This record gives sequence, structure tokens and C-alpha cells, in this order.
Amino acid sequence: MRRDFAALSCQSFDLLVCGGGIYGAWTAYDAALRGLKVAIIEQNDWASATSSASSKLIHGGLRYLETYDFKLVSKSLKERELLLQIAPHRVWPLQFGMPLYTYQRNHYLNRLKLKIGLMLYDWLAGKTRSKTHHRYLDAESLMTHFPYLRNNALKGSFIYSDAQTDDARLVLELIAGALDAGACCVNYCQFIQFLAREENLNGALIQDQVTEKQQAIYFKQIVFTTGQWLANDRYSQQWCLLAKGVHLIMPAVPGDKALLLTARSDGRVFFLIPWYGMTLLGTTDTEFRGDVTNVKVEPSDIRYLLDAVNDYLQAPWNEQDIIGHFVGVRVFKREGQLNLQDSPSSVSRDWELKSQTDDIHYSIGGKITSARQDAAAIVDKVCTQLGNSRSCATQQLFPWAPSNTFRIWWEQMQSHASVLGIDDESTRWLLRRHGTETSKIFHRIEKQPQLAQRIIPSLPFIYADLLHCAESEMVIHLDDLLRRRMPLLILTKLSKEQLQHIAQCVADTLNWDAVRVAQEVNRCSNDA
Ligand SMILES: Cc1cc2nc3c(=O)[nH]c(=O)nc-3n(C[C@H](O)[C@H](O)[C@H](O)COP(=O)(O)OP(=O)(O)OC[C@H]3O[C@@H](n4cnc5c(N)ncnc54)[C@H](O)[C@@H]3O)c2cc1C
Repeated sequence: MRRDFAALSCQSFDLLVCGGGIYGAWTAYDAALRGLKVAIIEQNDWASATSSASSKLIHGGLRYLETYDFKLVSKSLKERELLLQIAPHRVWPLQFGMPLYTYQRNHYLNRLKLKIGLMLYDWLAGKTRSKTHHRYLDAESLMTHFPYLRNNALKGSFIYSDAQTDDARLVLELIAGALDAGACCVNYCQFIQFLAREENLNGALIQDQVTEKQQAIYFKQIVFTTGQWLANDRYSQQWCLLAKGVHLIMPAVPGDKALLLTARSDGRVFFLIPWYGMTLLGTTDTEFRGDVTNVKVEPSDIRYLLDAVNDYLQAPWNEQDIIGHFVGVRVFKREGQLNLQDSPSSVSRDWELKSQTDDIHYSIGGKITSARQDAAAIVDKVCTQLGNSRSCATQQLFPWAPSNTFRIWWEQMQSHASVLGIDDESTRWLLRRHGTETSKIFHRIEKQPQLAQRIIPSLPFIYADLLHCAESEMVIHLDDLLRRRMPLLILTKLSKEQLQHIAQCVADTLNWDAVRVAQEVNRCSNDA
């Protein structure tokens, strides 16, 4: 994946996509597959905002049934099934438990409501790939799956199926696909302002955030997929409301299933989700009106999540147990006099495309799960304006998905990895993270077998993966590598010596001298 800022000004584009989160990435990939001349720019790193700070679920959103948002749930479930089919390395099934306790108010009624909700959820998903429809477990069987749960007054639990991903890598893979399909994709490149039109083309001033060089770019159509930054734009701010969501990374818990729980303080739903061997606890959901470039995890967010989860745990967690955290900002469509203060969780997650003129568009709201379908609608609109009649191809194509039967590919790769001395857990994550690109990592290990070793013994990331990402995945800063290419920075507390060691490992590949290595290490230490 080559970054080429200069290429943005040597040509004019059919479409400029501004913002490299999930919406920008799907839009650029889709448009490039349809033969449009596309550029996508991202002011920081790919997926550096909300698209690396989600709950990492590819889901229908069971709780949206409570607000009767059947259309959104049905659309998201269909997308979940499609992604499980076209990108089985990138999106994998995940089962959830929903424990029921006798002290919960109206627990019999609750159980009936849940049963009906889950029947509807399964039905809306249609013919599923996972074939795991919901079921009920009594308290005893439940404790075999979730032995860390309080079993006092535990009645049992429904188990249902959804899916999971690595959100930042999903975005990166789509950017790689867009590049392969001919798009010009540049991270650390900021849209500054529109320029006067020239010969029927729109123009904009953009800035290389690495060199601070500014130049002009020309295009016929532009779409802003700028997430929370829409609220800073004079024009688009009228359409959005923002809400902040915090996740904590907690120690591993036994088992491979997630939990959907209800906070006793306010009745909100939250999750405990296994991810890379650790546990994601989230999310909060509070209205946000502050500076979108400076969104922080507050002590009250931490207290809320720990209090909520400790009602369910045999051995409560405290602040010392927190390994890492991250925060994202949701954009909601502003509808009428909607006030988020009361309950952001009850606001629709659906998406909309707004247009200022025939050639300036804004992507508002949405979900990682449904972004593919929404991006197809963006590109349909752009194609209509451009008179291009090619239809969307992203229902069939996914950049690094194996072309032969997934199970056979997976087994062959596992055998190869075992011959190379990669441990099973690291292999599983390597295949999910890199799909067919994993072969390049294997070649590296064939030449240097010591690269099959883990970087940190407790986490499934190996040295060959680190070097591959540094060399091939448009890494500019150390935190691109350690937060989004492989999320070591949030999954463990890295000491300065460990950061120094990792930076040193990739210094030659990234052309960093000793001064730059020190700067990059400081940047990550300050972030931590
Ligand atoms: C806490 C939380 C949990 C969530 N969990 C889930 C989930 O489990 N499943 C799910 O489906 N959805 C989930 N979502 C929703 C989902 O994460 C978002 O809908 C999605 O990430 C939004 O993507 P985006 O591309 O619109 O915005 P972003 O990911 O925010 O991307 C916008 C990008 O635009 C860039 N940008 C801004 N201004 C400029 C400029 N001037 N020039 C260049 N670039 C610019 C930014 O740097 C940023 O990277 C969650 C959201 C939150 C907040």
C-alpha cells in the first residue's frame, strides 16, 4: 500500500472522498470497482476516529427491537450475513449470553419478551450462515460457559448469535482494495477548504500532514464521510447530533462467548466481549457537545462501566484491573426537536445521505455493520450525477478473502503455520487480520524463522506480522502500527523499553533514525 500525496494533484478525479473511516473506505472501494477515478484522503491515519473505537460487532442490534426499529435491524442482519459470507476471515460469528436473575423486575415477563424478540431477530436474519438460532440454558449449564458470573438468583440465559470484527483492520483492508482497484488513497492528508471551480471541476485545498505542504485537488463530485467533524462544518452541522461512547479493556475471562447485560442503575444495555484474548467492556452512551478533536475518557465513564459490570461478577473489577480504554463519537441524524440528553441509546442508528448541491454530499450517521450498503447508495448517487451506469460489486468482492472454500483455505494455512512454528492462537488471529495476505508473512518466516515468535508473550501478535504491517500497510507513525494495524497499545500496558524495542525493530523499514525513534516512542507514551 503506497502513499503518494503528489499523485493527488497530477490528475482530476470523478470523486473525492473526504474521511477515511468505514464509510469513506467502503465508498472509495465501491466507486473504484465501478471504474470511477477516485481519491480518498484522511487527515490522520485510516480509521483513527470512531471506526477504530466501536464495539467491533457486526450485528443487527437486538436492542433496537425495543424501539421498533425493524427496518434497521433487518437491514443490519442481512449485511451481517453478507459479510460473514464474502469476508469470512474478517467477520466471524460470536455468541452472546443474556443472563436472567430472579431479582430483576418482572423476570417472567422479561423472559417472554426476550423470547419473542429473539424469535423475531432470527427470523429477520433470514437463512443464516451460522445456523445458530437462539436457545435457552438453565443456570447450571450457563455457569459452564460463564463461570465468572454471580450465580446467586440466576435463573438461566438465552444464547443468541451475532458477529465480530477488527474494525480498524476492516477499514484498512477496504483501503487496500480501493488502491488495488486504482483509487488514490492518502492518509495524513487534510481537506482544508474549497477553491474556486475550474473548467466545470470543483477544487479544494488539501494539506499533507507529514510535510505540511499544501496543494490543490480537482474533482467532479465530493462526499464528506468525516464522522464527528460534520458537526464542525457550517453546512452539515444542522443535520447531526453527537454522542460519546467509552470502552474499557479488561483482563481475559474464561470462554469464547460475549455477554449482553443491563446496567442496574439506568436499565441501559452494555456488553462484555472477548477480543484478542482480552475483554471489551462497553459502552457508555452520553450526549457530546465538546471539541470533537479532544474527546476523553472521564472518571465518571469508568465508574459507570465498573459499577454496571460488578453487579454481575463474582470477583469485582476495580480501576487497577483496567488495561486500556478507547473512546468514539457517534453521529446521529438530527430529526426534529430531538434531544439526546434524555436517552441517546433510544435514538435511531440509521444513516442518511444529504446533499448541499448536485456534487457535494454528506454521509450522516450509520453503523459499521451497514456501511457497505450505505456506501453503495452514496456511489449510486454519484454515478447518477456522472452518467455512469455500472452497478455495485461489493456484494461479491472483498479484498483479501480467499477465493477457494474458506474452511479448506483455513486448514491449509493452519498446517503451514504449524510447520513454521507459529502458535495456534497467533495463527488464528493472523488469518483473521490478514486473510490471503498471510502468505506474505509466512514467506518472511521461511527466511527468518525467529520472526514466528510473539512480541509480547500474553498477546497473539508475532514479529513477522509487525514487520509486514510496517512495510506494507501505509504506516506513518508508531501509533498507526501499535493502535490500529495491531492494537497492542490498548491490549496491554507497554513500558517505554518495550516501545523502544518495537520502534527499533521497524526503524530500518520505516527509515527512522534515532531521533525519530525517540519522537515516536514519546508520542505513544504520551498517548498511553
Ligand atoms: C462507542 C461506539 C460503539 C459502536 N459500536 C458499533 C458496533 O459494534 N457495530 C457497528 O456496526 N457500529 C458501531 N458503532 C457505530 C460506528 O462505529 C460508526 O457508525 C462508524 O465508525 C462511523 O464511521 P464514519 O466513517 O462515518 O466516521 P469515522 O470513523 O469517525 O471517520 C471519519 C474520518 O474523517 C476524517 N476527517 C475528518 N475531517 C477531515 C478532513 N478535513 N480531511 C480529511 N479527513 C477528515 C477523520 O479523521 C476520521 O478518520 C459504534 C459507535 C460508537 C461511538
